[in-house]
Amino acid sequence: MRRNDERYGALRQRVLDACLVMVRQGLVTGTSGNISARDPGADWVAVTPSGVPYDGMTPEDICIIDLLGRPIDGRHRPSSETPMHTLIYRELPGVLGVVHTHSPYALAFAVVGRPIPPVCIEAIISGTGIPVAQYALPSTEDIGRSALAALGSHHKAVLLQNHGVLTIGKDVEEAMALACKVEEAARVYHLALAVGEPVVLSDEQLREIAGLRRKKGNVPSST
Ligand SMILES: [Zn+2]
Repeated sequence: MRRNDERYGALRQRVLDACLVMVRQGLVTGTSGNISARDPGADWVAVTPSGVPYDGMTPEDICIIDLLGRPIDGRHRPSSETPMHTLIYRELPGVLGVVHTHSPYALAFAVVGRPIPPVCIEAIISGTGIPVAQYALPSTEDIGRSALAALGSHHKAVLLQNHGVLTIGKDVEEAMALACKVEEAARVYHLALAVGEPVVLSDEQLREIAGLRRKKGNVPSST
């Protein structure tokens, strides 16, 4: 039991740290957005609570739930988007972090149902641009199903039609970094559309960039 308490505490802290990044980067306002992390090799998840402001949030405020969203430990109700998070963990066992935001530039593209094409390094995630998942009712498993369909086998970030952004990662830190990257890509694409006709990188150029990344390990950018 004590061992579990320590593991809960460590993952709660990482989710809280990701929340602080999300707030600092201006990806959320009020209590919107939600973040979760799955313990590697275990069937439980740490997820942000419903309706608790990020300002003043402590690790103990983060909920521990099972993969069906049932509470295991914590003093709050888990996020209303928990069904989306848990469905992703059940369907994609390699995913150990999920971040959902309503970051404004990305949300603007989600509202008009317009994918963000690979126009610059910030917009290249998993070797290509950022697709849009079909609209589904918030707080239902349907939105998770819609996100999974858009993620397919290789995407790590999608826009949720009329709703926001969803990113996944091998850990919560990667999912958080991608959520920041999506907003930056959306901001740049928005500005580019305002000043002219954006040029989308060709498949060959994307392959070259992927090759460079494989060769040098860290260039350019990540994922
Ligand atoms: Zn939302």
